[in-house]
Amino acid sequence: MKDHESFPLIPIKKGQGIWLEDFDGNRYLDAISSWWVNLFGHANPIINEALKDQLDNLEHVIFAGFTHESGIKLAEKLVEITPPGLSRCFYADNGSSAVEVALKMSFHYWRNQGQVQKTRFITLENSYHGETLGALAVGNVPLYKETYAPLLMDVITVPGPDCYYREAGESWADYSIRRFALMERTLQNQCHTVSAVIIEPLVQCAGNMRMYDPVYLKLLREACDKYNVHLIADEIAVGFGRTGTLFACEQATISPDFMCLSKGLTGGYLPLSAVLTTTQVYQAFYDDYQNMTAFLHSHSYTGNALACRAALATIDIFQQQNIIQKNKRLASVMTEMAKRFNEHLHVSEVRQTGMILAIEMVKDKNTREPYLWQERRGLKVYQYALSKGVLLRPLGNVIYFMPPYIVTEDELMLIAEIAWQGIEHAVRD
Ligand code: PMP
Repeated sequence: MKDHESFPLIPIKKGQGIWLEDFDGNRYLDAISSWWVNLFGHANPIINEALKDQLDNLEHVIFAGFTHESGIKLAEKLVEITPPGLSRCFYADNGSSAVEVALKMSFHYWRNQGQVQKTRFITLENSYHGETLGALAVGNVPLYKETYAPLLMDVITVPGPDCYYREAGESWADYSIRRFALMERTLQNQCHTVSAVIIEPLVQCAGNMRMYDPVYLKLLREACDKYNVHLIADEIAVGFGRTGTLFACEQATISPDFMCLSKGLTGGYLPLSAVLTTTQVYQAFYDDYQNMTAFLHSHSYTGNALACRAALATIDIFQQQNIIQKNKRLASVMTEMAKRFNEHLHVSEVRQTGMILAIEMVKDKNTREPYLWQERRGLKVYQYALSKGVLLRPLGNVIYFMPPYIVTEDELMLIAEIAWQGIEHAVRD
């Protein structure tokens, strides 16, 4: 809060495509898709049109005992486009709530099966799953978690496959396989008390955009089957094309037992989330009222009609405009633009998975010694870039590009140039 005495909030008057405009006429290129939600630009004409039509018919209705066309169509669409076996859809209204739903549903599934001892969750070091207490408990980024530690349920935290720490010359796949041994051992020893493993497939976004190989997901799926534990894929940040495929799990050709979706789901327009699950899970709750097996969880705005319609329009754009294919070209342009950062004296790594590219800024390139967090070098990049009309918002000292998919090559070039200048500015003195 105090920072804003010297660096005031920027009131935005208008958004158009990739650009935001403030009340003084300054423009900012939204290089991080407004916290990873915006896929096809601000004020997108197709999504706007769909929303106007929805608005004239139904804005919202209680989603218990009632339903509506956009809610039904979206559930059917999500079942169609997500990995095989995910045949049921449960709505909530933000990412953290979707994580809460998946955790509760997994636990409750085992309880309904008489396996009441399966009460614990396994999570990865450096993971992030949201800010509500359950989601925070299964996350592992100290910055968000530590203060609230006394309030949080106890979870089993396993060292992760973050490939930043691989040995020189070791491939992402080899390191991910090596690190999986730690997960396998934990599952072997503790599976009888474990309900689910929760994971961010391929990229730990809030954990400084750390990445790993799809083979880890493949091994994890096999192990979860072997040890009778659910697999929850939190695709809230990585879903909808961010990693190069529509869903990150596709790269390992796996289907989780629960898949959490939000953020890009509505193209960045409205809060909505969905948890996809299997018919097997669904059936465990399906019974006569007297048996009290039902899943009781609701939010006032669950299945909001406007949000569902925005999501349908977003998925239409993916399908009609062949976005995943087009993004391959954009991703390779991003690779090209970022090559020069590898040579920078204060960059220890440039890494990329699909439409996410991250640059790790360090004090010492050779030892990888980080800058002290108190120096707030990332903030300097942020402030510099804003002064040049680009919205980059580093995570600590990691500068990343996560642009809307409407970004042009020239705009990518601008983002990379300003990021370069921003780093030069931030590492001075
Ligand atoms: N899971 C992941 C992987 C996320 O990146 C986020 C948001 N950054 C969340 C969950 C929480 O979503 P929300 O902010 O909508 O609660």
